[in-house]
Amino acid sequence: MDRSKLYRRFRTLLIANRGEIAVRVIRTAKAMGLRTVAVYSEADRGALHVAMADEAVLLGPSRARDSYLNIERVIEAARKSGAEAIHPGYGFLSENADFAKTCLDAGLIFVGPTAEMMQAMGSKSGSKLLMEKAGVPLVPGYHGESQDDATLAKAAGKIGFPVLVKASAGGGGRGMRIVRAAGELAASVESAKREAKAAFGDDRMLIEKLVENPRHIEVQVIGDSHGNLLSLFERECTLQRRHQKVIEEAPSPTLDAAQRDAVCAAARKAASVVGYVGAGTIEFVSDGKDVFFIEMNTRLQVEHPVTELITGIDLVEWQLRVAAGEKLPLTQEQITLRGHAIEARVYAESPDKNFMPSVGTIRSWNMPEQSAGLRIDAGYRQGDTVSPHYDAMLAKVIAWAPTRDAAIDRLTFALEQSDVRGVVTNIPFLAALVSHPAVGANAIDTGFIERELKHLTSGANPPHDLEFGAAVAAILQEEAATAKGGAKSPWGAAGWMPVGRRQRLFTFRQGQGGEQKVTLHYGKGAASLAIGDRKISFSAVPGASGGIDLTLHGIKSKVVAIVEGHELYVRTSNGRFELHWVDPFGGDDEEQVGEDRIVAPLPGTVVALLAEVGAKLEKGAPILTLEVMKMEQTLRAPFAGVLKAIKCKVGDIVGEGVELAEIEPADG
Ligand code: ADP
Ligand code: ADP
Ligand code: MG
Repeated sequence: MDRSKLYRRFRTLLIANRGEIAVRVIRTAKAMGLRTVAVYSEADRGALHVAMADEAVLLGPSRARDSYLNIERVIEAARKSGAEAIHPGYGFLSENADFAKTCLDAGLIFVGPTAEMMQAMGSKSGSKLLMEKAGVPLVPGYHGESQDDATLAKAAGKIGFPVLVKASAGGGGRGMRIVRAAGELAASVESAKREAKAAFGDDRMLIEKLVENPRHIEVQVIGDSHGNLLSLFERECTLQRRHQKVIEEAPSPTLDAAQRDAVCAAARKAASVVGYVGAGTIEFVSDGKDVFFIEMNTRLQVEHPVTELITGIDLVEWQLRVAAGEKLPLTQEQITLRGHAIEARVYAESPDKNFMPSVGTIRSWNMPEQSAGLRIDAGYRQGDTVSPHYDAMLAKVIAWAPTRDAAIDRLTFALEQSDVRGVVTNIPFLAALVSHPAVGANAIDTGFIERELKHLTSGANPPHDLEFGAAVAAILQEEAATAKGGAKSPWGAAGWMPVGRRQRLFTFRQGQGGEQKVTLHYGKGAASLAIGDRKISFSAVPGASGGIDLTLHGIKSKVVAIVEGHELYVRTSNGRFELHWVDPFGGDDEEQVGEDRIVAPLPGTVVALLAEVGAKLEKGAPILTLEVMKMEQTLRAPFAGVLKAIKCKVGDIVGEGVELAEIEPADG
């Protein structure tokens, strides 16, 4: 690798980001022999990206506005550390034209397109005007300047319902509303504007025809400053929740070779309209037949690794070389596609609680080893804190194999081996999702997750004898391990206790589900479990690598079960289960009916009040909307009742556990 040219332009790179993307950029920069500078907020003092960089500069307080989004402080950090170039990652300042310009003015190289290119493509409306002129196929819609109600209503009527109202400055699926009838338009525009104003400081809207049951297809492009522009095939990102990608793959299993050529050509045409330089992505929606341009992202994308795995190209290396003024090293014909890659985004969130983000300290972090077919891009490790200030993505698990089926199998297996504790993660949900037959058959659209959610979350799979047996075995094993030295191990061949016949009652609860009582009979002779009216012979011995070899009814199986206080994590051939062991000495027997006080589950901002004091509420009726970690969360009535009080107003910033409303049960 010839480094001299790169070195002439810069030797020190500052990475203006955090989490997995900062770690990922640092990895390549180091491999290229660059000196790396991390930046961090107070919340991230101990973060992985800080530990990995050669040097790290504190930007300021945890709030993104005071740290990662603060242009002045980032520039100052570059100056202080002698950085000559800045890689913005994704999110944060990556699509901020002011930032790109400020870098240039400060004599720094911004690793990305120019401010002018960003401006031209950054607004969804503006870029659609450009694309329209260039003859790139668009979703029918309105992307004009006028924003008054009458104009929007007229435009929506002309397009024909259902339509999608979108923030022109939007990103991350925010500021977007589906409108199915004219009567709903005004309210949807208002709420989308509110979200857009808060998130992007810009509430201009555009309207698009809603493509029903669509697929998301996008093309990776990269241009150099010598007029060369390449497309690196497409990715399909149809598995989404709330318009945010969850699983991404490359190439798209939906397109045939001719369609692939066509969409890549359309993407090159789109990017060349602005003479694009740097890495970027042209996004399209597809009705399964044709593709329609929706937006361009003028940065590296979260899902870029799937493209890297099928092309063998390191996109960050190419970004850095282009930024140093080098020519792209390959021609379009030299770029070839090999095999299939698929990625899953691991988030700290609860899929069964409407994807509510989870914060806390990561108590344990277990991911499978990386190999030729498996890549793990992580931003966290054991002991790290997931703070409420930033995006909740923890890592990406990416599998490659010669065929799509094999890549899916490899990803499923990797997810089954992955285990993170301390915060709630979507790992079990991801494992259920990628192994779903409809995903294997590519019979999906962007609404798939929402429709299948019930079957993809933990409540779907009730625990059975095998899981209860594993839970009992784990509790006994835990007790044996903590028993005072000299105590006879219950794992001994003699059985649980050498004398008499005894019994012990365990009560387990799963999620909101009911309780199950399990009685262990032990002592002289073989042990057994009584579950309901079933009596099952039971024995368990510690197995390899922390597992348990469990024998029920004479059938042996390997299970993993871990006790943490009264929470049990059980993994069997039936899947994963989380059980609560009801404390036999009382203590946590309080009723699980829900509280009459509505409290903030995490720190956030109140963005809407949805019910009035005195209103009669059904169970599940919306009360107010809180914005938490960039996502709107609607808090609902835990039971039927009357709204007694609202203790907050729109715009309030509230801490975790703060009471927001009070509700009185319907009949006392
Ligand atoms: P963002 O900037 O938030 O990524 P996009 O315009 O890329 O916004 O849209 C996000 C997602 O919303 C897309 O991936 C797609 O699933 C869906 N979407 C966008 N436009 C349409 C449309 N016109 N019809 C149907 N779905 C759409
Ligand atoms: P993509 O198509 O790459 O998902 P989006 O426009 O949906 O792009 O959003 C960019 C990504 O960056 C999102 O996946 C989001 O999780 C992440 N992101 C956005 N803002 C932030 C932030 N402030 N901190 C960390 N990650 C962010
Ligand atoms: Mg998008």
